[in-house]
Amino acid sequence: MITEPQTNYQADDRGYYGDFGGAFIPEMLYPNVEELRSQYVQIMQEPSFQKEFNQLLKDYVGRPTPLYYAERFSKKYNTKIYLKREDLCHTGAHKVNNTIGQILMAKRLGKNRIIAETGAGQHGVATATVCALMGLECIVYMGAIDIERQAPNVARMKMLGATVRPAMSGSRTLKDATNEAIRDWINNPVDTHYIIGSVVGPHPYPDMVARFQSVISEETKKQLQEVEGRENPDYVVACVGGGSNAAGLFYHYLDQPEVGIIAVEAAGKGIDTGESAATSALGREGIIHGSKTLLMQTPDGQITEPYSISAGLDYPGVGPMHANLFRTGRGEFISITDDDAMQAGLELSKLEGIIPAIETSHALAIFEERKFKPDDVIVINLSGRGDKDLNTYIEYFKL
Ligand SMILES: *Cc1c(COP(=O)(O)O)cnc(C)c1O
Repeated sequence: MITEPQTNYQADDRGYYGDFGGAFIPEMLYPNVEELRSQYVQIMQEPSFQKEFNQLLKDYVGRPTPLYYAERFSKKYNTKIYLKREDLCHTGAHKVNNTIGQILMAKRLGKNRIIAETGAGQHGVATATVCALMGLECIVYMGAIDIERQAPNVARMKMLGATVRPAMSGSRTLKDATNEAIRDWINNPVDTHYIIGSVVGPHPYPDMVARFQSVISEETKKQLQEVEGRENPDYVVACVGGGSNAAGLFYHYLDQPEVGIIAVEAAGKGIDTGESAATSALGREGIIHGSKTLLMQTPDGQITEPYSISAGLDYPGVGPMHANLFRTGRGEFISITDDDAMQAGLELSKLEGIIPAIETSHALAIFEERKFKPDDVIVINLSGRGDKDLNTYIEYFKL
């Protein structure tokens, strides 16, 4: 296959990133998606929208998040490592940047009922949070198995006033919760907005979510200019589940070829073990949740159950932006096992006094295998804090 050299890694106006993306949806969903597609750019560009979005990011989320030079961590690997501190956002991760943006979008579209899907519950909590903030009804679909596994997040959502509806079909996990949410949206097209939690789903979701998260690289540029005298690092590094924290950090660097892009996936127990979520290494082209992308599947096209110790990376697909970064070679993709991620999480805790989410720990683990020069400037997206993962850390390290 011949791929034309690309100079633009953003979505085109049909929602394609090279060969990937688009909107593959049932006809019944078309009016809902089309209503959003035809208006989202214009709404986001309205000065009143921008003002409200930026104000909430500042006063409610706590932005700008610091860009922190991790001195002891850098010394250990003999290079210059900065951490973009999304773990300090309200609710403990980057996800709230997107839910704030989408709740404002829902209000502009005249919707007063919000639905969402959630796996481990992090996106459900971020959605329930902004619904409480705005006084909107919130229904979160969650697999029945996940409801059992993630009791603290279920309790959080309930405290925040959301209704958690169990998905009882299939494997009773994230994929099934997503199907239930789509069914709900088809049945409630007029008053309901569906808040998707990553850069996945049909166009315009991947592009819209990437734009909301792009505040991460917008801030990074300014902050790096102040401390390094240049806006561009040598590398940006982020973990990839669906790919939203990565899209946010990469966004303003996509078309700057001097900035290396490193995406880190979960290898689980090892990419050859059948228990992993290393989508780019193992995936083939397919369609999931309305988008053409790389997807882990059996030879006859059935979606494979992914596995990772971190719930946030446990997704069988990857957003179309990242599929394109992989296919074109613009991004370097590294997969990290459970064991290496856990060690890196412990190491950052001891070297810097920061306990990262296990998703983030995957990005922190690349330095054992990927070497950098002493004067390289590397920005890692510290996508979330480890509080939610304490039980996993306790069991793993017998703390
Ligand atoms: C959900 C989550 C992720 C993975 O989602 P992306 O859309 O790939 O960013 C990564 N880190 C944390 C802390 C999360 O909560």
